[in-house]
Amino acid sequence: MNYKAPRGTYDILPEDQAYWRHVIEKTRRVCELYGYEQIDVPVFEQAGLFERSVGESTDIVEKEMYTFLDRSDERMTLRPEFTAGICRAYAERKLHGRPQPLRLFTIGPAFRYERPQAGRYRQFYQIDVEVLGSQDPAVDLEVMQVAWQIYEDIGISGLSFQVNSTGCPVCRPGYLDTLRSWYAQHLGEICGDCTRRHGQNLLRLLDCKNEPCRTISEGAPRIQDSLCEECGGHFERLRSYLDDLDRPYEVNHRLVRGLDYYTKTVFEVWAAGIGAQNAVCGGGRYDGLIGMVGGPETPAIGFASGIERIILTMKQEGIEPPDTPKPSVFVAYIGDEAKEAAVVLAQELRTAGVGTAALWEDRSLKAQMKQADRTGAAFALIIGEDEVRNGVVMLRRMADSTQASIRRSEVLDAVKEGAS
Ligand code: AMP
Repeated sequence: MNYKAPRGTYDILPEDQAYWRHVIEKTRRVCELYGYEQIDVPVFEQAGLFERSVGESTDIVEKEMYTFLDRSDERMTLRPEFTAGICRAYAERKLHGRPQPLRLFTIGPAFRYERPQAGRYRQFYQIDVEVLGSQDPAVDLEVMQVAWQIYEDIGISGLSFQVNSTGCPVCRPGYLDTLRSWYAQHLGEICGDCTRRHGQNLLRLLDCKNEPCRTISEGAPRIQDSLCEECGGHFERLRSYLDDLDRPYEVNHRLVRGLDYYTKTVFEVWAAGIGAQNAVCGGGRYDGLIGMVGGPETPAIGFASGIERIILTMKQEGIEPPDTPKPSVFVAYIGDEAKEAAVVLAQELRTAGVGTAALWEDRSLKAQMKQADRTGAAFALIIGEDEVRNGVVMLRRMADSTQASIRRSEVLDAVKEGAS
């Protein structure tokens, strides 16, 4: 039987790890720079949490969740996103009792049963950043800036924001009525999905990717014209902060995002390299969600960014990540007696914090040196019978193949000195 990785999943092979490491390290550094603390939530949660929060008539809940009965017949779902789990933790762990707002980030896998294609997988990794407990538009800007700075520090160019406001329970119902009546006159022209959504998830009609639907939605009434005073003022402040920082942004009235829980600000970051269909990041404000999952009414905002898409963008732009660390030393040996001495020496070096590789397969010295080259070690330490008898080790500098015999007791100092 030949087993295969499940469709839509992939292996992150050693040669790709430098990209992942670079993205994760930059993310951590930026999050810490802005004062965000790490949180980790379970990979699976009760199915109802996502059904309730993400929304029954969203693509995710309708057709993309990995939901299963566990052995106690409880319905569980592999998380399709992080926000719901973080809000559940906020309510359940009483994180609202801590000084607010709470600034959090997390990094990990999420799961959606989607049609796999470039940059779209069934298991994918997200960076997720959330601020809970503030409605200040300066916080919206801060969260957007965290995303921006992560991409900028990674080296991605051609960044821009897409922003919109989706209103709130005060002004959105009125807008939805206007939109519904407007679309009612265009029912014959829109696709099957949109016709179905007309009754349940009206905002999604605006971001349908079908060309005829796009043309129609261009002419649809705009939410900006229906925002209440509070939402209008909030959006205006955010835009003026973006102007203050000189960030390129476009107000995109069709940007509604696929999840039900958004209120007020929604945004995406686009990178020139990957085009409009593939935003590197998306997020927004969800002032009603925490109350919905059992916590106190708490305003909040966050974004999620797919790591695969960031790496795709890096590759398209030719951004090389820094090399992963190499061992400093490779220990080689000739003969059984020398092998014992080599085992002890390698362990001594590692215990002292010197990265040390070896082959241990009783191969020829030539084969061992080839392997030493492959590992990228700066030095090889070679031990044969003579070296064991004389209490010395041969130190070879890999860069120019020069070598010298040094006392066994001086090896550690010599490699530490050479490595520094
Ligand atoms: P969403 O949670 O749908 O707002 O998506 C947020 C970000 O996660 C997107 O901008 C993508 O970068 C990433 N993403 C979402 N779905 C997938 C997927 N199936 N495969 C890879 N990345 C994804």
